[in-house]
Amino acid sequence: MQTSFSLAQLADPHVAESEKILRKCVHCGFCTATCPTYVTLGNELDSPRGRIYLIKDMLENGRPADKEIVTHIDRCLSCLACMTTCPSGVNYMHLVDHARAHIEETYRRPLADRLTRAMLAFVLPYPSRFRAALKLAKLGQPFAGLFEKISALKPLAAMLKLAPTHIPAASPMASPGIHAGQGAKKNGRVAILAGCAQSVLDPGINDSAISLLTRLGVEVVVPQGEGCCGALVHHMGREDAALASAQRNVDAWTRAIEQGGLDAIIITASGCGTTIKDYGFMLRLDPAYADKAARVSALARDITEYLASLDLPQPVRRPGIIVAYHSACSMQHGQKITRQPKELLVRAGFVVREPREGHLCCGSAGTYNILQPGISATLRDRKVRNIEATGAEIVATGNIGCITQIASAAKLPVVHTIKLLDWAYGGPKPEGVREERAVIAAE
Ligand code: SF4
Ligand code: SF4
Repeated sequence: MQTSFSLAQLADPHVAESEKILRKCVHCGFCTATCPTYVTLGNELDSPRGRIYLIKDMLENGRPADKEIVTHIDRCLSCLACMTTCPSGVNYMHLVDHARAHIEETYRRPLADRLTRAMLAFVLPYPSRFRAALKLAKLGQPFAGLFEKISALKPLAAMLKLAPTHIPAASPMASPGIHAGQGAKKNGRVAILAGCAQSVLDPGINDSAISLLTRLGVEVVVPQGEGCCGALVHHMGREDAALASAQRNVDAWTRAIEQGGLDAIIITASGCGTTIKDYGFMLRLDPAYADKAARVSALARDITEYLASLDLPQPVRRPGIIVAYHSACSMQHGQKITRQPKELLVRAGFVVREPREGHLCCGSAGTYNILQPGISATLRDRKVRNIEATGAEIVATGNIGCITQIASAAKLPVVHTIKLLDWAYGGPKPEGVREERAVIAAE
């Protein structure tokens, strides 16, 4: 795509980066076929190619964002299916991240939208605030139907509907400290991201990861000082907050590296993994952090990616349960991890089925299911129909956002992949899973 930025504009490294991305787009439109918002809404401006044109026009003309561009960029899930499809290597993720930061700087949203976003940024990244908010949500849940009828309160209604009825107790395993690897053979030393929303919604996910890793002889460090990865605010265009989160985590993991080395930084939420693997890029212009952030990104591994690199023993049990594997967008498109979770499940004795349209987002996408509840619900229902058509007994996925989203409409239990793996290798049976049975012949 031809661009016409001035030299003065290109002196801004963010604009220069976006210009490089824009020039790679050849307008072929292949990306439209796999874009969930284009597939749902059928509007070119809600396709990757349409958004790329809008962003180009806004940046090239040095214009503040207007209502039209905000509408179409806000509808983007940042699912990155377009990046998987694009034959030309267009880095849509960095382009839309830049556009969102530009929107945040130059556009004044309506009051209700500003308040909702400010509240999400104030609550979600902080486990104690999020826990308190979930308790409050229980009081508001009877009014969700009423709020849904008022346009400005739809995000509040979506939040209340998504809030779980049971809030598990915080896990002591999430506290900073070291979990020693068991057995004589030491198989590695890793740090694990304690995270924010996931640690409140389902602390059992990291407990399973830590238990399994330590049983495999891997020492697991929960570093002091780490927190939210920054993805939630990053996707709202709040760059300063996102970079502050990234810096804090880079500091925490750098200390862990210096205190004993790390083979990997383990992440059990693929949405966070995509962002942490991008820290090197996000902090590239910060001389105090660029190298450290690049080192952290290079060490970041999804839990399944790391487990696949280990020499695993035979599973303790072979559950023989039929599992529908839902590949989170951040897993398959953001991190290009497609093979390992399924192979690990099969090796552990599960029968894995893949739902149709596996490339399409479930509509969770960070805070998207709160901020865009209509499109999100359409995508969720489509996803659940495809999952239920597999005839599986349980859904496995590697991202807490997808778990919450799919579970809000599916009749079958939805669990994190690591819980099934932990079970097969000797850990406790995940809640909602029926007793194991004889192995069904592999499909
Ligand atoms: S990130 Fe997803 S929703 Fe956004 S343009 Fe790309 S494919 Fe469409
Ligand atoms: S597939 Fe890639 S090159 Fe083609 S229109 Fe989409 S972003 Fe541009």
